[in-house]
Amino acid sequence: MQGNTTASPWYFPMRREARAVHELAITRSLLQIALDKAGQAQARRIGSIKLRIGRLSGYVPEAVEQNFRLLVPGTIAEGAALVLEWMPLRCRCKECGHEHDATPQDCSCPACGAVGFTITGGREMFIESMEVET
Ligand SMILES: [Zn+2]
Repeated sequence: MQGNTTASPWYFPMRREARAVHELAITRSLLQIALDKAGQAQARRIGSIKLRIGRLSGYVPEAVEQNFRLLVPGTIAEGAALVLEWMPLRCRCKECGHEHDATPQDCSCPACGAVGFTITGGREMFIESMEVET
């Protein structure tokens, strides 16, 4: 176990500074996508944005809202509610094919105990939906 200080059990093993840059870049691109879509819809403002984020995305939960608030001033997303849906890490057992939720620390199969697996979910990071006012 690394000596991390975050309260999140889904801490991604990346150096703090590297992670912060990574997170800000992701938030910026997600916000840009939202603004582009809202622009296409000729929206006056964005009311809410729902993000679906996988546990393996490298994102620390606490950082999402913080980065979002840092980037939105002056955009039509200023004041938008941010809804986060965290997707579990999913593994499929290479021995028996059983698919199950897992943690980065333990992806062994609960059905047969095998440790070989394929990751089938948990890396996603996208805008699930958003509400705009036109
Ligand atoms: Zn299995």
